Order: sequence, then C-alpha cells, then structure tokens
Amino acid sequence: MLTKEIQIAVEKGAMLPLMEEFYTIQGEGYHTGTAAYFIRIGGCDVGCHWCDVKESWNAELHPPTDVNTIVENASKHSETVVVTGGEPLTWDMTLLAQKLKDNNRKVHIETSGAYPLSGTWDWICLSPKKNKLPTETVYEKAHELKVIIFNKHDFIFAEEQAANVNDNAILFLQPEWSKKDEMTPLIVEYVMNNPKWRISLQTHKFLNIP
Ligand code: SF4
Repeated sequence: MLTKEIQIAVEKGAMLPLMEEFYTIQGEGYHTGTAAYFIRIGGCDVGCHWCDVKESWNAELHPPTDVNTIVENASKHSETVVVTGGEPLTWDMTLLAQKLKDNNRKVHIETSGAYPLSGTWDWICLSPKKNKLPTETVYEKAHELKVIIFNKHDFIFAEEQAANVNDNAILFLQPEWSKKDEMTPLIVEYVMNNPKWRISLQTHKFLNIP
C-alpha cells in the first residue's frame, strides 16, 4: 500500500512505476538499429491478448521511482531515450520528458495513444490498439504509425488508423511475433501493392537482445 505522499507524487508524474530500464538497440519502426536507453513504465489496461509484456500490466508490481533517478540513470547511457510500457500515457509524462530534455536527451515515446498525450517529445511512435483507440491529439502529433498485424482484419484496421493520423506520419506494418511466419508474406505483398506503408520487424527478437 503506497503512502499518501507517494500516491500524490505518482499522480503528478514526479514518481513513476518503473518496471525496467536497459540500454539496447531499438528493434522496431523508424529508428530500427539505433542505440537507445529504454525506460519501461508499468501499468496498462488496454489488454491486447497477444501482448508480449503482460508483466507490465499491473502497475502495483512496479516500484514508484523518482523521475530524477530515472533521468540520471538514462543520461549515463545514451543520447536517445525511449519511454515505453505498459502504456506510459497512463501517467503524466510531463516531468519525465522535460527532465530528460533538460539533460539534452532525445526523447521518444512508444504508445497506444489510449490516454491523452502528456509530455513534449522528439519522436512519437503511435501503435494503436483496437481495444482502446487513440485520442485525437496523439493522431495529430505522431511521427510514426506502427500497426501490429495479427490477422487479415488488421490490414483494414491499419488503413482506418492511417486515415486518422497526420499526413507526415511514417506508416509501418509489423507482424505480431507469434504470427510472423503466416503474416509476413501477406505484409510483403500488401506493402508492394500499397507502397505508402513500410515493413517493421521486431529485429531485437531476431538478434536475441532485449
Ligand atoms: S497496449 Fe502495449 S502494453 Fe498494453 S496490452 Fe497492448 S501491447 Fe501490451
């Protein structure tokens, strides 16, 4: 049970439930192949059945951590910091993003967009989920749209989402890992027929790195 003081700090975004943090290579999307420090924030109620980080869902399992500590650790390792989850926008990201910027970091967020956008970001990767659609603001501000393809209907969902996102967003289709053998050939064909899309693969999983 958290003290009232900690609860207030979490509500303000001065403390966040930190699940893990690690320096690795960005495996997905536009920045694939580049080094980045990942901060994984606990808490997500979107409930994707194929989610590969279900341990992140229950925020209570992850210790509320002072954002200054998170920023200090991140700044030791990498110029680029990726905030992911869970669903990071469950929480107020304003302070974390600001303090990382104050430390001259490039700040990226990976989000389903299910909650209002907080924080100012150098790069927003929006990966919408059918269970809980993104808010308007995040469609307007996203730099990339990454749609996970689990089944054929997801191509229709991808087009619906592409119609909502701003014109500059770079569009990616990414096979869900357990369905990659089945879905990747369909994605290849789809991208050749619809070249506004690009393919994203979970290259970190092929490389066997976090
Ligand atoms: S939004 Fe992300 S963290 Fe949440 S359930 Fe879906 S895949 Fe998992």
